[in-house]
Amino acid sequence: EAKKETLGFQTEVKHLLHLMIHSLYSNKEIFLRELVSNASDAADKLRFLALSNDGLYEGDSELKIRLAFDKDQGTITISDNGIGMTREEVQEHIGTIAKSGTKQFFDALTGDQAKDSELIGQFGVGFYSAFIVADKVTLTTRKAGAPTDQATRWESAGEGDYTLETVEKAGRGTEIVLHLKEAESEFLDGYRIRSIIRKFSDHISLPIVMDKEAAPSYDDEPEEGEENAEAKEPAAPEIVEETINSASALWTKSRQEISDNDYNEFYKHVGHDYQDPLTHVHSKVEGTNEYTLLLYVPARAPFDLWDRDAKHGVKLYIRKVFITDDAEQLMPRYLRFIKGIIDANSLPLNVSREILQQSKQISTIKAGAVKKVLGMLEALAKNEPEKYAQFWKDFGPVMKEGVIEDHGNKERVAKLLRFSSTLTDSTTQDVTLEDYVSRMKEGQDKIYYVTADSFAAAKNSPHLEIFRKKGIEVLLLSDRIDEWLVTNLSDFADKHLQSVAKGDLDLGVEESEEEKKAQEEVSHDFESVLKQIKEVLGDKVSDVRLSHRLTESPACLVADVYGMSLNMERIMKDAGQ
Ligand code: ADP
Ligand code: MG
Repeated sequence: EAKKETLGFQTEVKHLLHLMIHSLYSNKEIFLRELVSNASDAADKLRFLALSNDGLYEGDSELKIRLAFDKDQGTITISDNGIGMTREEVQEHIGTIAKSGTKQFFDALTGDQAKDSELIGQFGVGFYSAFIVADKVTLTTRKAGAPTDQATRWESAGEGDYTLETVEKAGRGTEIVLHLKEAESEFLDGYRIRSIIRKFSDHISLPIVMDKEAAPSYDDEPEEGEENAEAKEPAAPEIVEETINSASALWTKSRQEISDNDYNEFYKHVGHDYQDPLTHVHSKVEGTNEYTLLLYVPARAPFDLWDRDAKHGVKLYIRKVFITDDAEQLMPRYLRFIKGIIDANSLPLNVSREILQQSKQISTIKAGAVKKVLGMLEALAKNEPEKYAQFWKDFGPVMKEGVIEDHGNKERVAKLLRFSSTLTDSTTQDVTLEDYVSRMKEGQDKIYYVTADSFAAAKNSPHLEIFRKKGIEVLLLSDRIDEWLVTNLSDFADKHLQSVAKGDLDLGVEESEEEKKAQEEVSHDFESVLKQIKEVLGDKVSDVRLSHRLTESPACLVADVYGMSLNMERIMKDAGQ
């Protein structure tokens, strides 16, 4: 339908717009980065679809992004000849927030501007950042392959609603006109725009072009004796387009050529993040199966870290052509927070999803990439322990999945784990298994741990009394995943992991003759008491034993060596088993 319709923004969009305009104002120039990033994604998508249907190029295969400004109109225009959008797509993408984690995001908002602006960064700002500087945005777009009279115009003042109408558009792709607020006229300046692009978008591999501005002319006055009559009438300046970014895929450059800023800005583009990453690895792997990877660890966990349907963060390219950003086979699940790109040299360009899934080369690349990521994390832990501590706080529980999921790298993942322990009794997880082993008492041959459903319960477990008395360190495990972790990690460095709550305890530390004698006496005294307790409890328990492991509590429950632990029983119950 050609008629113009007015539609209301989803409530969340209204809320987000309001919040963004206020909290990101001090960083307002990021609107250009976000719009250029979208234009670049749109070109990537078109290039991929055109691999199997080059009619989509409509004779124009030189993909680029154009920037222009008009001082008189007070507008900045960003246009691309990428994939474009249908009317339905415009409505779906520019008017609603389909992102997973949206609810958690809004729940997490505090009303405190500083905190909220950090959250908004984690959530991703995207297209709507245009409204930080514009009081009206007009987006006109035609999907590649659609007839020229089937383009869509979306327009909004960024308040409650927007309009949609079907219009004509000769070229495919998307054009966005920002009608700048009066106070933002500083952006109507070629020098300013160029410097923003160099700062934020230099890594974009597509050319970003602008009209060259006429240099001030010094020969307006014809020189004496010159006979050129036409020179009096200024010739219409010839418009020359110039490319204002370096327009080459960042990852193909050598590390020395890339600045920290370039690495960070590239991350924000591929990771759809607003904050700098924590660390990265950039590496070219040679050989028959050649590939380049540039992978990052975000500074903060995304909102959808626990969402099973969340998109994976690693984009697959083949010889610089974007193939997919949904290649789950590139990273195992426990490394789902890793963002970046892998560019494979030796895969055929016409790969399909099915081929990807079965490709031996892809699994080789995945195995290599996982090793690089683990190496990056090991280096971070070794060289920048504070950053690693920050990483662990956000991603620790996910890394623990690695012990369960990644058998081939179990040992390496185990070394990256961090725990709380009775050494400090602090909730901060900073003890490595290697630390623990190096502190083991003479004669101690096991790594002891206690699991509970809260840190306080773990720390105050009566099972710990004898260990505390004897000065034996115990790991305090209270993350939800910990039960699964210890059932999958039975050994580390040839030391058995042993629950303090299971079966008999042989602390390996010799008891003195006196102690033994005293224990025997006590056992004898309590024989009849134990018998009575057993009778009362009946088959609620499998045994009642006298224990020497408690020093303060009168009694505790102990699981069979081969039985489920009590905490595990609780978890199974929760899960409806
Ligand atoms: P994100 O880029 O993180 O998906 P944005 O808010 O920046 O979020 O963009 C939302 C969506 O709108 C994009 O995912 C894309 O589908 C669509 N979109 C935005 N800009 C363009 C464009 N220039 N060409 C085609 N689609 C676009
Ligand atoms: Mg975007």
